[in-house]
Amino acid sequence: MIERTIETATKRYPLLLGDGAARALPRLLRALACPPGTKLFIITDDAVAPLYLDEVRAMLAAAEYDVYAYIIPSGEAAKSFDNYYACQTAALQCGLDRRSVMIALGGGVVGDLAGFVAATYMRGIRYIQMPTTLLAHDSAVGGKVAINHPLGKNMIGAFHQPEAVVYDTAFLRTLPERELRSGFAEVIKHALIRDCRFYEWLRAEVKTLADLRGETLAYCIEKGIDIKASVVREDEKETGVRAHLNFGHTLGHALESELGYGTLTHGEAVALGMLFAVFVSERLYGRSFAEHRFAEWFAGYGFPVSLPAAVEADRLLEKMKGDKKAYAGTVRMVLLREIGDVEVVELEDDKLLAWLGEFAGQ
Ligand code: NAD
Ligand code: MG
Repeated sequence: MIERTIETATKRYPLLLGDGAARALPRLLRALACPPGTKLFIITDDAVAPLYLDEVRAMLAAAEYDVYAYIIPSGEAAKSFDNYYACQTAALQCGLDRRSVMIALGGGVVGDLAGFVAATYMRGIRYIQMPTTLLAHDSAVGGKVAINHPLGKNMIGAFHQPEAVVYDTAFLRTLPERELRSGFAEVIKHALIRDCRFYEWLRAEVKTLADLRGETLAYCIEKGIDIKASVVREDEKETGVRAHLNFGHTLGHALESELGYGTLTHGEAVALGMLFAVFVSERLYGRSFAEHRFAEWFAGYGFPVSLPAAVEADRLLEKMKGDKKAYAGTVRMVLLREIGDVEVVELEDDKLLAWLGEFAGQ
């Protein structure tokens, strides 16, 4: 099992990663000074609950904790105010106090929602992330927690770091292939923005999604988390380098919103967004990444590599201008200077529109 310490400006916390990591939970809770009888409140979703809730609950009950659970529907729509409020109600009814601990057992949706519930319950109580998706290597570290508003994704939230991240890779065996692919896009992103050697390792070791098992999968998570954690250590509240994590996300978010959430997975949209970011980088920096054959590489994992015919460039541009990361309506994209080296660049509308058109026509 891999053990790490995640450090941010405000907090240090352990991360346990590997097959069977969940079994370390009672020991971890003792280390967090949670005596037997402490109330633990597990938030999970209705796809994960039938698979793992009983096991986790039984293990915690055997360690003499007072365990409660609340199950939300699975899917992005569950990151809603209604579910947030329902979780608060359930936590109050169960009599959770300020010494209680919440546990987010699930993917990024559960992690973001449960983290925000914990951030605000009685002005903030402790919580533990137990990620069950590959994508959650990204969401479980860094302390950004949020729910969606009908007017925008992740619009209501907080920075609230967990007490620990317990990543049991055995839980990922039931993950549908499309979700594995979605999470893998963020692994690729982490390599491209920060770590050329990891990028080369990915090219050599992960030929298809079927390679994402065992040690290879664990290494992808470990490296992805290391990179994410190093960025967050430098810039917890996103005043600088944390924006680099947005590589592929400017167009990615626009696509998700324009096509309707769920049409493309987040990772599929981000993969297309990364290809567009490379396309723009080549034009802006006057260099070529052709030798890397990114589109071919992505297609090998089953990512879409060209824009869906139904989307219009000017509508995408409008969405990109509405991004949380845009300033005063000017699109800011993360561009690739070299593999492992990115920067944020402001781009003029007319140039972007032309490039979007060209990219769509490829
Ligand atoms: P998700 O939580 O919806 O999980 C994807 C699907 O897989 C769901 O249907 C879920 O029920 C199912 N599932 C989860 N674990 C499973 C398992 N082990 N076996 C079988 N099925 C399983 O989505 P996600 O992709 O994990 O996360 C996406 C969310 O993460 C988005 O809301 C996004 O905004 C958020 N996010 C947050 C951050 C952050 O820094 N806070 C970073 C990236 C993404
Ligand atoms: Mg993302």
